[in-house]
Amino acid sequence: MKNRIVLFGLVVSFLFGCKEKSKFTKSEEERKVSQTSNTDRASKPDVFYQYSIWFAFVNKVFDGDLKVSELKTKGDIGLGSFDSLDGELVMLDGVPYRIRENGEISVGQDEDEIVYADATFFHEEGVFQIKGPVDYPSFQNMLNTKMESEHYFYAYRVPVKLDYIKLGGVPKVEKPFTDGLDVLLPIRPVFEAENISGTLVGFYCPEYIGNINAFGHHFHFISDDRKWGGHVMEFKTKHDIEVPWDQKTSYAFDLPKNKTFENVKLDSEFQYN
Ligand SMILES: [Zn+2]
Repeated sequence: MKNRIVLFGLVVSFLFGCKEKSKFTKSEEERKVSQTSNTDRASKPDVFYQYSIWFAFVNKVFDGDLKVSELKTKGDIGLGSFDSLDGELVMLDGVPYRIRENGEISVGQDEDEIVYADATFFHEEGVFQIKGPVDYPSFQNMLNTKMESEHYFYAYRVPVKLDYIKLGGVPKVEKPFTDGLDVLLPIRPVFEAENISGTLVGFYCPEYIGNINAFGHHFHFISDDRKWGGHVMEFKTKHDIEVPWDQKTSYAFDLPKNKTFENVKLDSEFQYN
């Protein structure tokens, strides 16, 4: 990371060993496709990467110093928020999209800064199917049922055809930051769309992650026409959903290197669930 001192970087490798049976069933065909599509990613790290910590983000550390150019070295999919909450972030195929509070979408530039992010190189390990109709709560329940163990991390890159979706944006804030996420998220801008195709990019963190990240599933969406995007709040579809998944057993994060983070009082707690 050029011109930036990493205050603290932590890589934890969970060596749980291989299990013979997985609840995610993978056909021979899927295995071949998975191996082929992963060839160009084979050299990329198979790590769940996070910038900043959830506890800092909740407690108003809204000035980030992770450049978009750096984020792109950490993964080809991702989600998060830009500096000063000037837009939600969803990264797909290595392209980081910024969705501003008015719903306008642009591509994040290399010098733009990010305040919070989850990212990874998606190494597809298999696919399972969820029969329609499906809504967001039943989708998350199915992921819980299908995952081999709730103690691992997971990444998802899911193409979907939806009847309806409700997305959340973020309201831009100025320094000094006075309101935390507990105040800002209930008043976040909301965007709704019908009959829309796109991709859900998401992550699952186990409950033991505590205040480091958001526990459970966290999904962002970007439409195929790149006109709609944001944090997924609700969706429904009559169609089946094919869910490509990637289990992660390594986790790494970098902390912000600035005064706001150095001096923040980490006292408010907030979780989506
Ligand atoms: Zn989000």
